Amino acid sequence: MRDRQQISDMSAEVWSERLFQRFEGNPFPLTGQWELTCRCNLKCVMCYTDPFNRPEKIRQELSYEEIVRILDEIHQEGCLELIFTGGEPFARRDFLDIYTYAKRKGFLLNIFTNGTLITPKIADHLKTYPPSMIEISLHALTRESFDQLTMRRGAFGHCLEGIRLILERDLPLTLKTVGMTINRDEILKIKKFVAGLDEKVQYKFGSDIRPRLDGSEGVYQYQLPKEEIRAIEQADEEFRAERVRQDRCKQEWIDQGKQQCGGGNYKFHIDAYGQLQLCSNNRRQGYDLRQGSFREGFYQYLPEFPCPARRPAAGTQLVNIGSGDGQEEFQETA
Ligand code: SF4
Repeated sequence: MRDRQQISDMSAEVWSERLFQRFEGNPFPLTGQWELTCRCNLKCVMCYTDPFNRPEKIRQELSYEEIVRILDEIHQEGCLELIFTGGEPFARRDFLDIYTYAKRKGFLLNIFTNGTLITPKIADHLKTYPPSMIEISLHALTRESFDQLTMRRGAFGHCLEGIRLILERDLPLTLKTVGMTINRDEILKIKKFVAGLDEKVQYKFGSDIRPRLDGSEGVYQYQLPKEEIRAIEQADEEFRAERVRQDRCKQEWIDQGKQQCGGGNYKFHIDAYGQLQLCSNNRRQGYDLRQGSFREGFYQYLPEFPCPARRPAAGTQLVNIGSGDGQEEFQETA
């Protein structure tokens, strides 16, 4: 029998990319990320939504009725997958209603959460209406560093309890860490801790620090220098292999002149106020879903929004510089 790759074996990225090929490059809203709120019970030092975690801004966020109306429109356009994020999605009192409505419509749902607000009741509800993935941020492994990083005493205990409740119900779980100057020594320990939890639990490591939504850039003080990120990746076999895979993929896109990003092709982003955007990292332009339809926004406006990642920079190449232990390692050159 021919060995066929299952959807569950593929990353969401690869899955979306393959499915999108079926549409022969024509835009189609396969998957979207929805920042349902900037409200959050924590105050992580590097958080980009935190400046909008204020009562006057929260009052301007989409209501349940508006969200449901937009969900209907997205569903009508054939979208398959949504990622619900924040802020902290569970900080919205109506989050489970929104989630359940979307689930009943048949969307594949992924929740990005800090895990600290998950209660037995919420976990039971998720067991009844299972998400395709719950991604919980675990940026530190000691009470002191976790609470210091999230600026909330007791956050570490609540996060571990949230993880326990999800594991207890055998729900799909990914734990993830943003590598920063303040947790640089804990990253590989966190990875080891996750590996010891349950073999089904996945782990993601990132290093992306973004300017805050109010434009302030003080968060960059927590950014790890490139060399340190490289050193962390090179110290772990799986991280190393993942780096090679990502670099190969990127080089393939460059060689084939393909767009490096799915934003506006098969992906979209919606912010807490109903602005339809290319992605969470590019909010230069938005289409107001309060005023117009998702269909018009996705097909007529999104393709025109500016993004430097639409085409690879001319002449960009990744060269294999090796890692000294026989592993491939790539570096970008102009
Ligand atoms: S948990 Fe997420 S949304 Fe909340 S403060 Fe931390 S980074 Fe921001």
